[in-house]
Amino acid sequence: MDIPEGAIEFNKAYDSQEKCLALLEKVRWPNGFICPNCGHDDGYRLKTRPLIQCTLCRSQASVTSGTVFHKSHLPLPVWFYIIFSTALDKGGGSSCRIAAELAIQQKTVWNILHKLRHAMGLRDELIRLAGFIELDEAVLGPHARRPTISAEDRVNQPDAKVKARGRKKKDGSRRKTQTDVLVLVEQERQSLGVTAMKVLDSVSADSIKEVLVRRIDENQYIKCDGLQAHHNALRGFNCSYEAVVCSGPAGLIELPIVHRAISLLKLSLMGTYFGVSKKHLQSYLNEFCFRLSRKDSSQPIWLSILRACVFATPITQAEINA
Ligand SMILES: [Zn+2]
Repeated sequence: MDIPEGAIEFNKAYDSQEKCLALLEKVRWPNGFICPNCGHDDGYRLKTRPLIQCTLCRSQASVTSGTVFHKSHLPLPVWFYIIFSTALDKGGGSSCRIAAELAIQQKTVWNILHKLRHAMGLRDELIRLAGFIELDEAVLGPHARRPTISAEDRVNQPDAKVKARGRKKKDGSRRKTQTDVLVLVEQERQSLGVTAMKVLDSVSADSIKEVLVRRIDENQYIKCDGLQAHHNALRGFNCSYEAVVCSGPAGLIELPIVHRAISLLKLSLMGTYFGVSKKHLQSYLNEFCFRLSRKDSSQPIWLSILRACVFATPITQAEINA
C-alpha cells in the first residue's frame, strides 16, 4: 500500500469516492472479498452499483456496509480529509478548525469526530495492557489540581495556562464539577506504552475492577498508590500489585509514567478541548489514548483511525446525543 506523505499528496490520492472506496476495500478485505453475511470468500462486482454480490448466499454488500461510513450522506473524500486532519493535529481534532477549512457546518464535523472517537475507543478495547502497569486516577474539572508540566511539554505547548486550585473543598468533600478518570499505563522502556483511560462514576473498587478485567491480562504487575479502593479492587484480581503510599511530589517519583500521562491529558484538555463536558469526556479520552498508545507506531495515525472506522460497530446520532 502506497502511503501518501503530507496533506497535498494525501488529498490528491483520495480526492474521489472511487479512490476512497478502493482504499477501504484494501483495509477491510486485504486478502480479497469476504461476504459479511455468510463468510464466503468469493463474490463479483455489480456493474450498475458499487456493490459486491456473494456467489454463495447472493447477498449484496458494499465495502462501507457495517462500518462507521455506512449510509453517510457525506462524501468519502470529506471523511478522509477529516480523518487526516485529525491525525495530523497532535492536540486532537478540532471541529471549528476543520469546519472552517472545509466550509461546512461545525456541527457536522463535530458529529464526525465523535464517530471517529467512538471507533478509536472500540479499537483500543481490543488491546490489553501487559507487563508493568501503573494505575492512578486523574481528577478533572475546573477545580482540579494544576498539572505537572515538564520542560518538554512547556516547549510543545507554551501557551498552556492553568489555574491552580485545590481538588477538594474546605470541608474535604469532592466538588460536583469534578470527574474522576481511571488511568492505566503500560511501562515501555521507562516510557509511556499502551494507555487506557476510563471515566468513573465513583472511585470504588467495583468500578476500578470492571476496567481492570476488560483491559488488563491476568498475572501482570500493577503499581498504584495506597487508596483503599485500589487495594480492594486489586485483591480480587489475579495480578501482583504494589501499593505505594504517596502524595504530592512523591507520587511523581513513585508513579512517574501514569503521572506523565495525566499531565499530558490535562494539557491536551486545556488546548483543543477546553471546557469538555463530562458527558463527552470519554469520547475525548478515546482519541487521546488512541494517539498516545500509537506514538511509536510505524503506521501513520490516519491509517490506524481509518482501520478503526472500518472494523468498529458504528454509533448512531441518537447514541452520540444520549
Ligand atoms: Zn454470502
